[in-house]
Amino acid sequence: MDAPKPPMVVMLPSPGMGHLIPMVEFAKRIPLHQNLHITFLIPNEGPPSKAQITVLQSLPKSITHTFLPPVSFSDLPPTTKTETLISLTVLRSLPSLRQTIHSLSVSHTITALLVDHFATDAFDLADQFNLPKFIFFPSTAMSVSLFLYLPQLDQEILGEYVDLTEPVKIPGCVPLHGKDLQDPFMDRKDECYKTFYRNANRFIEAEGIINNSFLELEPGPIKELQKQEPGKVKPVLYPIGPLVNRDVTQTGPNGSECLKWLDNQPVGSVVFVSFGSGGTLSSNQTIELALGLEKSEHRFLWVVRSPNDNLANASYFNAETDSDPFDFLPKGFLERTKGRGLVVSSWAPQAQVLAHGSTGGFLTHCGWNSVLESVVNGVPLIVWPLYAEQKMNAVILTEDIKVGLRPNFNENGLVERQKIASVVKCLMEGEEGKKLRDKMKDLKEAAAKTLGENGTSTNLISKLALKWSNSNNISNVSN
Ligand code: UDP
Repeated sequence: MDAPKPPMVVMLPSPGMGHLIPMVEFAKRIPLHQNLHITFLIPNEGPPSKAQITVLQSLPKSITHTFLPPVSFSDLPPTTKTETLISLTVLRSLPSLRQTIHSLSVSHTITALLVDHFATDAFDLADQFNLPKFIFFPSTAMSVSLFLYLPQLDQEILGEYVDLTEPVKIPGCVPLHGKDLQDPFMDRKDECYKTFYRNANRFIEAEGIINNSFLELEPGPIKELQKQEPGKVKPVLYPIGPLVNRDVTQTGPNGSECLKWLDNQPVGSVVFVSFGSGGTLSSNQTIELALGLEKSEHRFLWVVRSPNDNLANASYFNAETDSDPFDFLPKGFLERTKGRGLVVSSWAPQAQVLAHGSTGGFLTHCGWNSVLESVVNGVPLIVWPLYAEQKMNAVILTEDIKVGLRPNFNENGLVERQKIASVVKCLMEGEEGKKLRDKMKDLKEAAAKTLGENGTSTNLISKLALKWSNSNNISNVSN
C-alpha cells in the first residue's frame, strides 16, 4: 500500500493587500502539527508588488507561495469597477490554478481550499478535485451577514438600494441606510453588483467561514450567525479575529524614518493619517486635509498619495504611483509643519506605527485591517470611509461600538479644513475623545484575551488545524 500523502491547505487570496495580510496572519498562527502543509496561490494582474513580496517573505519557510501567471484586462473598458477586476483576476486564473492544484494533489492530500469572499469562483475547482471548501472573510461579521443575506435581500428589494427610505435590517446588525451599503450596491445594474451577488450566492456552499472579527467587537452579528436553525444547513462561523500583522521587523518602505520620528514624539500625541493600501483623495481634498492638519496644531504622521479626482481606490492594485505626491501639497505646508508633522509618500509601516506609544489617534479610511490594528493597540479613530464596505464599517464604529468620530462632507463632497482641525482636536483633547479612548482600551483588553492561551481565537484556530491535519476521509481526484 502507498504511504499516505501529507495533508495540505491551499489558500487563495484575491488581489489587494487587505485580503492578503490577514490570510497570511491566519496561516502563521496555524499550528503545523501532523505534517500539515500550507501553500498560498496568488492571482495577480501584473508583477507582484513590493508590498506583496514583503508580506509573503514574512511567512515561515514551511509555508510556501506561488504567484500565478498574471491575467490580462486589456479587453475591459476603463470604467470596470475594482470589485469586478478583483473577482475577474481569480476567474481568469482558474486554468493556471487548476494546473497548480493538480500538481499539488499528486504529492499531497488537499484537506481544504480556503478562498476569500471575492474568490468563490474557485469553488468550481474544489468540486472537480473533491476539496473541502472554506471562506476566509477578512472584514466584519456584519459583512458576512450581508453576503449570506443577499440572495433574500435581492429578491425582496426591487429598486435601487440607495433610494430606500427605510434602513436595511441585516439580521443581528445595526440598521443601515442604503447609501451606507458596500459600493457594489450603489448601482444594481452594474457588473460589479452582479459579481458581488455571484460570490455571495456561493457562500452557502462553504463548510466554514473564517472571519477576522471577535465576539466583544461585534456581538450582534456573530451571535446571529452562530445560531443553529433547525432544518437549515449553513456554514459554520469561526470568528478567529482580531488577527493583525504584529511583526516589528517587517517595516517595508519608509519604515525606519517613521519609527525614528515617532520615538522622538511625546506619548499618545500623534495622529496617524492613512487611507489603507489603496485609498486616494482628490486634489482639492488633499489640500484641505493638509491645511486641516496644520490648523489642528496637533502632531501628525501622514501617508500621502498622489491624488486622483475620479477614483477613491485608484491605488488598489499598487500603492506606488509614478508622480510625486509631495507636488500636490499646499505651498509651504511641509516647511510650516516641520517637526510637528511627518509626511511620507505612499506607504508606512502601519502596524508598527499604531503599536508605537507616541500614536494617540488614527484618521482611517476604515479598511477592516486598519480598524483591527487600531483595536489591538487601543487607538481611537476618526473615520473617513472611501470605498468597498468602509461606510458600513464607519457606521459600526460610530453608531454601534462608538470608538470613532465621523466628520461630515460638504455639498461638494469635501471635508473642509475647519472640520478636519476640529475633529482632530475633539479626538486628541476633548471629553468625547476620552470616552472613545476608554472604550478602545476595553476592546484592546478583550482582544488580548481572545488571542491569548485558551482564548477563543486560539482555540478555534487549533480546532481548524486539527480538522485539516486529518486526510483520512478525503481523496482529491479530478475528473
Ligand atoms: N498598510 C500598511 N501601510 C500603509 C497602508 C496600508 O502597512 O501605508 C497595511 C495596513 O496596515 C493594513 C493593510 O495594509 O494591514 C490595509 O488593509 P485595510 O483592510 O485596512 O484596507 P485596504 O487597503 O484593503 O483598503
